[in-house]
Amino acid sequence: MSFASLGLSDALVRAVTEQGYTTPTPIQLQAIPAVLQGGDLLAGAQTGTGKTAGFVLPMLQRLSTESSPHAAKGQRGARRPVRVLVVTPTRELAAQVEASIRTYGKHLTHTSMSLFGGVGFGPQAAQLKRGVDIVVATPGRLLDHATQRNVDLSTVEILVLDEADRMLDMGFLPDIRRILALLPAKRQNLLFSATFSEEIKRLADTMLHQPVLIEVARRNAMTELVSHEVHPVRRERKRDLLAHLLRKQNLSQVL
Ligand code: AMP
Repeated sequence: MSFASLGLSDALVRAVTEQGYTTPTPIQLQAIPAVLQGGDLLAGAQTGTGKTAGFVLPMLQRLSTESSPHAAKGQRGARRPVRVLVVTPTRELAAQVEASIRTYGKHLTHTSMSLFGGVGFGPQAAQLKRGVDIVVATPGRLLDHATQRNVDLSTVEILVLDEADRMLDMGFLPDIRRILALLPAKRQNLLFSATFSEEIKRLADTMLHQPVLIEVARRNAMTELVSHEVHPVRRERKRDLLAHLLRKQNLSQVL
């Protein structure tokens, strides 16, 4: 299976190929067609699975093939509407996702920016006021800008919550609810989470409409064919225990 056969445009396939990727990962195989269809998505995937490209590629495709229903509204000098909002738990992840958007979108014309705390507020406000298609943000700083009316989220067409379980662990649920309240009712929602606690399921129930469900195996999952044993032992007896285990068991491979 190739990226082109998933329905991605030449510009996106070219950018992916330039990264040296020729085969979609399991999450990409499932997420890309689902996101292209325009419906909501609930994906169980952790870092390392290729999940970022799994949502960035199809969302860029959707932006490039559909025009914003809020574009300019016929007014001269109107600000470019924000079309995609990606919310992440940490600055590092926001920066990484935005870097991926730049990488995969290099043959397209969208603009993107990351928005997180710990860096100057003014330059971010100025950039938002100039207008940007894609905002990748941590919750607190995004709400600060929204409160000051530097950003209008009522034009968002696609919302991505990345690493939603971590956001809840970090206490961001009230912030997420405040952000959801600023978005238009009609939008596409993509929720990515490595784990599915009751809290995540409740959040998914409130924000997703008939989502496509995708779950890929944990990359570091233990195979069921391997059993583990632990021998708690005092430090001074470790050597004897090791000698005993080596003598007692007929081990074919030892590390
Ligand atoms: P992620 O799970 O999104 O953090 O991605 C993990 C890593 O896999 C990143 O370094 C990606 O650049 C890389 N990656 C994404 N898609 C592919 C692919 N189809 N083939 C090989 N590597 C990929």
